[in-house]
Amino acid sequence: MMLINCPHCGPRAQSEFVYERTVDSVAPAGASNDEAMQILFTRSNPRGVDDEIWRHTFGCRAWMVVTRHRVTNEISQVRAVGPEALP
Ligand SMILES: [Zn+2]
Repeated sequence: MMLINCPHCGPRAQSEFVYERTVDSVAPAGASNDEAMQILFTRSNPRGVDDEIWRHTFGCRAWMVVTRHRVTNEISQVRAVGPEALP
């Protein structure tokens, strides 16, 4: 079972979280339609470490960026993002 260390709740089962997308597949607000399509749909899917956006949907509902190895599922970092990350 994969555990994710929520910055607000501590370690919880991955089943409490919902994966959204990788950080580098988020199109900037000012991107043209062509640029956004390129970023959203034609990114590579490499093996290795990636920054992913997750939400603790069945917990505190906060967003976070999880740095995870795509093959081993090893998580090296979890950081809060969004309104909950503000002091
Ligand atoms: Zn949480």
